[in-house]
Amino acid sequence: MSTIGQSIKIDKVSKFYGSFQALDHVSLEAKPGEFLTILGSSGSGKTTLLKIIAGFEACNDGQIIINDEDVAGKKSYERNIGMLFQNYALFPHMTVEENIAYPLKLRKVPKDKIKEQVAYIIKLIKLEGMEKRYPKQLSGGQQQRVALARAIVYNPPLLLLDEPLGALDKNLRQEMQFEIKRIQKELGITTISVTHDQEEALTMSDKICIMNHGVIQQCSSPEEIYKQPKNQFVAEFIGSTNLVNGTVVSKKLENDRIVTMVQTGLSKEPMRVEEPASYRKYNLKDIILAIRPELIHLMKERKGHTNSFKGKIINSVYMGDYVRAQVMIADGSTLNVKISPEAFRQYGGENELEFFFNPDCVTTIYEREKGVMLKTVD
Ligand code: ADP
Ligand code: MG
Repeated sequence: MSTIGQSIKIDKVSKFYGSFQALDHVSLEAKPGEFLTILGSSGSGKTTLLKIIAGFEACNDGQIIINDEDVAGKKSYERNIGMLFQNYALFPHMTVEENIAYPLKLRKVPKDKIKEQVAYIIKLIKLEGMEKRYPKQLSGGQQQRVALARAIVYNPPLLLLDEPLGALDKNLRQEMQFEIKRIQKELGITTISVTHDQEEALTMSDKICIMNHGVIQQCSSPEEIYKQPKNQFVAEFIGSTNLVNGTVVSKKLENDRIVTMVQTGLSKEPMRVEEPASYRKYNLKDIILAIRPELIHLMKERKGHTNSFKGKIINSVYMGDYVRAQVMIADGSTLNVKISPEAFRQYGGENELEFFFNPDCVTTIYEREKGVMLKTVD
């Protein structure tokens, strides 16, 4: 068995509950076989969007296009979408085998075909030998696998996951993340997953869409979301980051990269930022530099370096594989920096230290006045 995943395009979908707008012109796209995660805090509209895709709710505006076909006129069961939600109730009076076979029986698949398909799926989810057990005789993780099996056994080309791992403890959750990803890739099933867990999103996804108050803030690869957040909301939402105010001194194109010189309070010298030419199109003076704590380095030898500045460690927490340090700069502001325990032991006590970051490890953010980008700016 192998599924050919479908493509899905969500085009400017809006949803109102009374006068409350839960989704505001949401657009996103997943290619066949892609794993797309919608990441947002509770109440941001994630479940609402999945319900609209599944056909449990109607939208007020916009289109859902699956394999180039607008599905507006299709009932939920006609859309043939696999679904796995957090409260994945298995049928308690049915065995593992019977639970998994249920969607096939509903679809009136012939008995021998059901047997073959169920055996295949049980092998895929690694539950051989447990076919005759009842749900209460399984661990939480095993029950979760059965629920996943039931969601994919009839070969749906599209799978929707609504925080399905939320009820599991951390270790089990990580194990299931890898399992789901493995099975998803093996079947080639296009998947839209929603979660508020950023680690889960970064681990599992080909593409992440960050949602806030029903508005998509950015849709990119996990790496791009992390390294090139499009606005302050995304920069602060994913991982921890330092936001430094600055003013653009100059901007020019050099070998396909935009080089921006930015005056900040870190040092008298302007900081140099290098970004892909395709990336930044704004021409504003006031900006924010987003710098990840692990990309600021302690300069061990006192030699000049691009983007260097002086600071003093005023707080530190030992985290095992690194030291999280709060560094005070001359202008009184502070930055978070990750330092290796060795370097911290050697230099941490000194009154004045020098730090630097590489020009291609910073992101410029221009939407300073707004903080959060509303609708699509680019
Ligand atoms: P999430 O899944 O991201 O936590 P939801 O999609 O469940 O968010 O909800 C988004 C917003 O819409 C929330 O503010 C919620 O209170 C509201 N909402 C959800 N369903 C309904 C409903 N049936 N009637 C009214 N408001 C709703
Ligand atoms: Mg939800």
